[in-house]
Amino acid sequence: MKIAIVGAGPGGSTCALQLARQHGHEVTLLDRDEFPRPKTCGSGLGPRCLQLFQEIDLADKLEPMAQKIHGLRFVGPGGNEAVLSSNKVEAWIIARSQFDAEIAFAAERAGAKFVQGFNAKRLLRNPSGRIVGISDGKTEVEADLMIFADGAHSRFSIDKRPRRQIAAIMAWYEGVPYQPGILEMYFDKRVKPWYGWLFPETDTRVNVGICYDPEDPADPKRLLDDVIATHVGDRLKNAQQVGKYKGHPIVYTEGVGPITSPGAIWIGESARLTNAATGEGISYAMRSACVAADVISRHDRADSTLLMEYQQATTKHFALPLKTAVGFMNFVNTPAFGMASSLITSRAVQGAMRYLLANA
Ligand SMILES: Cc1cc2nc3c(=O)[nH]c(=O)nc-3n(C[C@H](O)[C@H](O)[C@H](O)COP(=O)(O)OP(=O)(O)OC[C@H]3O[C@@H](n4cnc5c(N)ncnc54)[C@H](O)[C@@H]3O)c2cc1C
Repeated sequence: MKIAIVGAGPGGSTCALQLARQHGHEVTLLDRDEFPRPKTCGSGLGPRCLQLFQEIDLADKLEPMAQKIHGLRFVGPGGNEAVLSSNKVEAWIIARSQFDAEIAFAAERAGAKFVQGFNAKRLLRNPSGRIVGISDGKTEVEADLMIFADGAHSRFSIDKRPRRQIAAIMAWYEGVPYQPGILEMYFDKRVKPWYGWLFPETDTRVNVGICYDPEDPADPKRLLDDVIATHVGDRLKNAQQVGKYKGHPIVYTEGVGPITSPGAIWIGESARLTNAATGEGISYAMRSACVAADVISRHDRADSTLLMEYQQATTKHFALPLKTAVGFMNFVNTPAFGMASSLITSRAVQGAMRYLLANA
């Protein structure tokens, strides 16, 4: 099949890589940017990502770029805190500029055509209304199947439900002392039910940020500064901010919506597949790409059976995680979370938590 993919984030590039490896398709990966390019993101890659990198044979390439994380400094809504650590690596941080470029170029090496600087603007349709390609206003790319992986602001989304969003803003600093291998999460009341964070991105640079309610009338930069000043405190004294503050929404859903249309499917955040509680979207995007590639591998035509199978497989895979994440987000909004977090940080329970982190 001729397959064109719009968006070379983790979703689109993973899909291009997996499809190119099937050797039966002509795959074109399109992105409006030139790579490597920055992406506003904490760049945290949790256990689901690490498992997936093994499955799709990317772990060895990515590992040398990673800051290895084995523990968490957790601060609860009452200011109670604990450092929970494990004796094995639980997560990686890799700056998105490097991470996204690595997967996109891996797809290119596997045989996909990677077209950069292509800003997709207009769908091509045949007389019956089927999507048959994409145009940037200058070039038309025809395809038997279009895959949209164009992220939170997806221009081509067909999901008519209101977009539920988490607002997020972040900044980067050099010279903030941190405990190596430990990332920090602050369940601060000011950003409830979400949180602030500090992630070590390189040996000398950290990224800090907050996920917060988009309806919050506070000035986002001040809110971020206040939350970070509270929890990073004196460690900011000799730090230098690098670059500007960057804000970007995270789009989430409690259930998989419409993600197919004749001739096209949607994956990753353009299909609203993110974790509403944590804002995590990289593993969701990459997993949905793998689900799509797997379904496509069983078909030689992009017909209605392929679309139905993709919708069903995605729903089967994501229904529970999406619902659980919204449930957790709602739980953080209740007084019970305050109690639970003081338990997590109590000395008696920390031993058990450490044991769980090490063995789970
Ligand atoms: C502040 C912040 C922090 C986050 N932190 C984390 C984290 O630590 N860990 C985590 O797992 N997730 C995190 N996320 C979520 C994560 O960034 C996204 O969910 C994830 O990137 C989604 O991947 P994707 O491939 O679906 O889309 P994206 O990564 O958004 O990629 C979409 C791509 O499509 C391209 N594109 C868009 N429109 C067009 C067009 N018209 N034509 C051509 N190309 C187009 C873009 O250039 C981009 O390259 C965070 C998000 C934010 C905002």
